[in-house]
Amino acid sequence: MKLFRPEEECGVFGIYGHPEAANLTYLGLYALQHRGQESCGIVSSDGTGLHAHKRMGLVADVFGNQKVFEKLPGKAAIGHVRYSTAGASVEKNVQPIMVDYSRGSIAVAHNGNLVNANLLKAELEAYGSIFQTTMDTEIIIHLLAISRTHSLVERIGDALNRVKGAYCLLFLTESRMIAVRDPHGFRPLCLGKLGDGWVVASESCALDLIEAEFVREVEPGEMLIFTKDGQMQSLFPFKKIEPTPCIFEFVYFARPDSNIFGKNVYQVRKELGRQLAREYKVDADVVIAVPDSGVPAAMGYAEEAGIPFELGLIRNHYVGRTFIEPAQSIRHFGVKIKLNPVRELLEGKRVVVIDDSIVRGTTSRKIVKMVRNAGAKEVHMRISSPPTSYPCFYGIDTPNRKELISSSHTLDEIRRYITADTLGYLSEEGLVKATGLKHSFCTACFTGEYPINFPMPSQIPQMGLFSKDEEYIEQ
Ligand code: AMP
Repeated sequence: MKLFRPEEECGVFGIYGHPEAANLTYLGLYALQHRGQESCGIVSSDGTGLHAHKRMGLVADVFGNQKVFEKLPGKAAIGHVRYSTAGASVEKNVQPIMVDYSRGSIAVAHNGNLVNANLLKAELEAYGSIFQTTMDTEIIIHLLAISRTHSLVERIGDALNRVKGAYCLLFLTESRMIAVRDPHGFRPLCLGKLGDGWVVASESCALDLIEAEFVREVEPGEMLIFTKDGQMQSLFPFKKIEPTPCIFEFVYFARPDSNIFGKNVYQVRKELGRQLAREYKVDADVVIAVPDSGVPAAMGYAEEAGIPFELGLIRNHYVGRTFIEPAQSIRHFGVKIKLNPVRELLEGKRVVVIDDSIVRGTTSRKIVKMVRNAGAKEVHMRISSPPTSYPCFYGIDTPNRKELISSSHTLDEIRRYITADTLGYLSEEGLVKATGLKHSFCTACFTGEYPINFPMPSQIPQMGLFSKDEEYIEQ
C-alpha cells in the first residue's frame, strides 16, 4: 500500500451566490498565496454541473489568462492553494479534488492533515476502494461515497466522524456549498458576506481584498450549509471538545493583516516581541528584523526595550519564502538572494536580530554572518517563539524531528552553531500569554503535547503515526 504524505500548508476559499464567483475566488486565492505556492485550483458550479481549472504553479500564473474564467461559469466556486513536501508534488494531487459518484458530482478543498489517513486507507482498500491521488483528502470522498445515510449533510458528518486530525473543508456540489472546521479548530476559517453571496476563507485578508464583510469565524466543529435560496444553516455534527487552534498560525503562518482565533495577527506578533524583550533584554544599539515575518515582533521588542528599530535587512520581494524551496541547495543560497543588510545602519553597532522561529538553524546562521560582515560589533539573536522541537502533524510543514536543531541541541549549542553572541527564545508561557486569549492552543511543535493521539503506535518511530522520511513510500 502506498502511504499518504501529510497534506501540508494550504489555504481554502469559497463563495456561494455571486455572479462573479470564479473571478472572486481567484482574488481570494491571491490573498491566500502565502499559505501555499506549489499548486492551486478552482472548481465552479453553474447549478447543473461542476467545472474545474487547476495546475501546478502560483495563482497569478495558473489563472493569468482571462479565458480560463469562461470555463468556470456559475454563481458558486471553491478554490485551494497548496504546498506539500517534494515527493507528493504532482499534478494529480492538485486540489480541489472533483469526482462523479453514484449521487452526482462533488468537489472538495482541504486545509490540514488527517492523522489516521493510512489506517482508513488500508481499511477502504481492503473493501475494494481504488485511490487516484496520494492525498489524505481523498479518504473523505471515499468515506462519504460508502456512507449509508441519506442526505449529503449526513454523509459528510458520517465520514468526518471517522477521520481524525486537522481539517478546514469546503465541499461544492451542483446545488450547495458546505464548509466544515474540525472540532479542535486547528486551522483558521472565517465567514463573510458579499452582497447576497456568502464567502468562506482560511483568513480574513481574503475577505478584505474582495471587500466582503467579515461576519464571524466558523466555529470549531461547525458545519455551514449554503443553499440556493441564499440561506445558511449551521450544524454541530461532532462531539464537543475543547478547541486547540494552532499557535504557530500567530507566530509565522497567517498574514499579519488577518484576524484569526479572535485576534489580529499583527498585534499578537508585536506582543510576542514585547514579551520577548521582557524575558530577554540586552544592552544594544539597534533592533532589526528578519523580514517579513519577524518585523512586527521586532517592533514590539524595540518598543519595550527602548532601543531604536531599523530596517537593517532589506528583502527582495520577488523571491518566494526560502523555506518553501524544496531543494536544500536552493535554500542555502536563498537567504542571500532574499536578504541584503544595510551596512550604514549596522556598522560598529550592537545589534538585536529578531526572527519568528529557528527550524534547522540555516537561516539564523546565515543572517548572523551577514550582519557581522556588515560591520556589527555584537549580534544578539532573539526568537519570538519557543524552540521548535517537534514536527507538526496537523498541516504546518516542519521537517522530521532529527532535522529540527532544537530537538537535539542545547541552547548554547544552537547559539554556537548560529555564531550569535547571545540567543534567547520566548518562553511557552510567554507565547500563550502574549496572545491575550484564555483558551487552549495546540503548541505541539514546541511542547510535543499532541492534542490528538495517533492510532497504530507500532508505526510511531519517534513522534507520530508516521515519520515523514521513514514511513512514506516514495511515488
Ligand atoms: P531554518 O533556516 O530552517 O532555521 O528556518 C527558519 C526560517 O524559516 C525562519 O526565518 C522562519 O520565518 C521560517 N519558517 C519557519 N517555519 C516555517 C514554515 N513552516 N514554512 C516556511 N518557513 C518557515
